[in-house]
Amino acid sequence: MAPIRILPPDVVNKIAAGEVVERPASVVKELVENALDAGATEIRVDAEDGGRRLIRVTDNGSGIAPEDLPLAFASHATSKLSAAEDLWRISTFGFRGEALASVGAVARVRLVSRSEGRDGAEIVVEYGAASPVRPAAAAPGTVVEVRNLFHNVPVRRRFLRSAEVETEHVVEAFWRFAVARPEVRFELFLEGERRYCLAPAERRSRIGVFFGEEVAGSLLEISREDFHAYLAPPQHSRVNAKGLCFFLNGRFIRDRVLMRAVNEAYREMIPHGRYPVAFLFLSLPPEEVDVNVHPTKIEVRFRSVWKLHDRIAAALRGRLLGGDLAPRVEPPSREAAVARGAVAAAGGASGAVVEFFSSGGGAPPLVSAGRRVFQVHDRYLVEEVEDGLRIIDQHALHERVMLEDLRRQYANASIPRQRLLMPAVVELDGRRRARLDECRELLESFGIEVEDYGRDAVAVRAVPALVAESDPAALLTDLLDLEKEEPGQSMLDRALGFLACRAAVKFGRRLSGEEIARLLEDASALDFSSACAHGRPTAVKLTLDDLERYFRR
Ligand code: ADP
Ligand code: MG
Repeated sequence: MAPIRILPPDVVNKIAAGEVVERPASVVKELVENALDAGATEIRVDAEDGGRRLIRVTDNGSGIAPEDLPLAFASHATSKLSAAEDLWRISTFGFRGEALASVGAVARVRLVSRSEGRDGAEIVVEYGAASPVRPAAAAPGTVVEVRNLFHNVPVRRRFLRSAEVETEHVVEAFWRFAVARPEVRFELFLEGERRYCLAPAERRSRIGVFFGEEVAGSLLEISREDFHAYLAPPQHSRVNAKGLCFFLNGRFIRDRVLMRAVNEAYREMIPHGRYPVAFLFLSLPPEEVDVNVHPTKIEVRFRSVWKLHDRIAAALRGRLLGGDLAPRVEPPSREAAVARGAVAAAGGASGAVVEFFSSGGGAPPLVSAGRRVFQVHDRYLVEEVEDGLRIIDQHALHERVMLEDLRRQYANASIPRQRLLMPAVVELDGRRRARLDECRELLESFGIEVEDYGRDAVAVRAVPALVAESDPAALLTDLLDLEKEEPGQSMLDRALGFLACRAAVKFGRRLSGEEIARLLEDASALDFSSACAHGRPTAVKLTLDDLERYFRR
């Protein structure tokens, strides 16, 4: 074995770059953070070829003194932290002093800066090697230009996606800042063309720019001492969590527990597998959070996370219910049950349900030969089985049945499709457009026919017959929003699962006796212990033994 050596700085920086600079969008993030840390009130971002050819961030912040320019690119050199205790009261984005050193290690970077009362100066760092500092004409503030990113790291370059996809990541990094800091003026230029020009504005209108005016106009607000939230009504839910955004002290973060808190607030208002659109802005004292757990600081650690969770969940839920948006799910009152019973008594299982609950004595009728089943709360089927009883989630079971059908039909290339009388025109943003280009063939293979319609729109001409009732525009955008990188599941599996879910009877829909009989019949080939398309169970069983134990017989 070779002797132990301390790694030379260029190797250290290249390693750090691996953590901090994943793709062009990460460079945009680091540079804009530096600009904000420097107190900039105007920031312009330029990107070309998805950021591979050029990323430029221009700010009107404090600037850097000429003699500090080489230090800005040295690793672990920062103006934002001096002692370890400072780590507990960080209020700037940066503090590790790693970003410029990392970017300088994997690209050609030119930084021009002018600080107050000083002359402008520039420095060029090319794959780790710094030029001498030279005088340069400059406006107050800083311009950082990054060219040929990853030119010297072919592995990284190969992992980059198409220019469209990388551009979408850049736009994503950009909107997070624009929404986090509405008092700052932001501009974004792509391939030299101005795409966004955002004057200082209300946060709500910034949200509108990126999430649509309709969503922005519908947002409910709620404020507490340490957070402010904007909540979209449940009907704006999406198949991915991209509209569920958390900011901590102005920093975009990801956090599972916060995610749970918001989902908890929306529970039963949004179907399984969908996510609400909501923006949560936390302002916590720096000592309540540790932001030094992740190199890009996108994950943080809260001191008392479950307390925070409970408070947020309760406050948001209260606001949503107060907003009177929720299809409130309460057990039917006795009177209502009797009234419904009278209507439904003429036919089938639902009448029997009421009968069963209101008189407490009558046996439920058979809905099909040899089976005793009834529906409760329009959501579950309760079935008597040989050694006990089974409670079935009607939606999950139906979804499972649909999924098996779809898989079989797909394998025979025979998913029935329905041509639309009126093609549905759908506007696509850049991200969805890029997605469509990637998976158009796949969509066609299961019956979604799409045609280009102008520059930013497409027309849906046919959909799978199974989901012919659904809004074709929403169907397409939801499919394009499906996360493609889910471990262990192909895009095809996910898409079929999604269609099955769409086609399945809703949780909360009253089923007729015939419908129940058909569902159980269709499901008879399935193993009841099997899961639905989302991996949830379809049924639970209580045996007579379980019941006897419970009643201490
Ligand atoms: P960090 O932000 O963690 O301090 P960076 O490598 O991102 O580390 O930046 C190093 C230093 O360079 C910063 O601490 C700051 O002093 C200076 N700097 C970088 N970008 C700017 C900018 N746009 N305006 C003013 N100073 C900057
Ligand atoms: Mg920084």
